Amino acid sequence: FDNGQTSDQKYARRKASMSIRENIAEIRRRIDEAARETGRTGADITLVGASKMNDAAACQEAIAAGIDVLGENRVQEMVTKLAENAYDGAPLHFIGHLQRNKVKQVVGKAALIQSAGSVELLDEIEKQAEKLGIVQDVLLEVNIGGEAAKSGFAPEAVEAAAAHAKELAHVRVRGLMTIPPAGAARDENMVYFEKVHALYVDINRKMYNNGLDYLSMGMSGDFADAIRAGSNMVRVGTAIFGARDYTK
Ligand SMILES: *Cc1c(COP(=O)(O)O)cnc(C)c1O
Repeated sequence: FDNGQTSDQKYARRKASMSIRENIAEIRRRIDEAARETGRTGADITLVGASKMNDAAACQEAIAAGIDVLGENRVQEMVTKLAENAYDGAPLHFIGHLQRNKVKQVVGKAALIQSAGSVELLDEIEKQAEKLGIVQDVLLEVNIGGEAAKSGFAPEAVEAAAAHAKELAHVRVRGLMTIPPAGAARDENMVYFEKVHALYVDINRKMYNNGLDYLSMGMSGDFADAIRAGSNMVRVGTAIFGARDYTK
């Protein structure tokens, strides 16, 4: 990825990649610590690098440093970076809000769509996966804060959504994902995590014979708490890649 870069850019990239490696090591240490509080270890937790607004070189640095998965938010950015081989060497997840008319660009590209948050979206994923002759793995997104602006199933709608998904031959539910309301106080956030964990345990037992794999919750600011509440998959962006530059 160095082609055409000035020595300043190369230096900046080398510095950034050093910190990506160090950041991942530090996050792994904190993940392991939190996991041990719940009788698990870091090996039980999947670390997803949320790589939105970070370029292909940064994605490759994270993969070289042993990230488990990369997660993208925006379909166009994902398509561009796929063409640059940004994710070669690690599974790719789609973690952002997904519009129905963009589903066909994601099905079959992302190993896991973490943001299946409506029945209409599940139906569209089914349609596109059937066309490709594949089974698309998804997580059901839970809108735990009941936020009007956020997608996802209301907690009381998750069981019906799971029942609906069971009827879809080309969709396989692997677990739940949630993003608590931004700006919640720490104890309030913990309550959200605990509620989604309880929901996960409940539908896992009742509807999947304990066959679900993933409870995806926790980001840079709260992944240790999410793990304490039972998360086994965390999506970390800023703490790995640094602050995102929204002015670009
Ligand atoms: C951006 C993003 C993250 C990571 O957020 P950070 O606070 O930067 O760690 C996690 N999950 C989703 C769905 C995101 O969009």
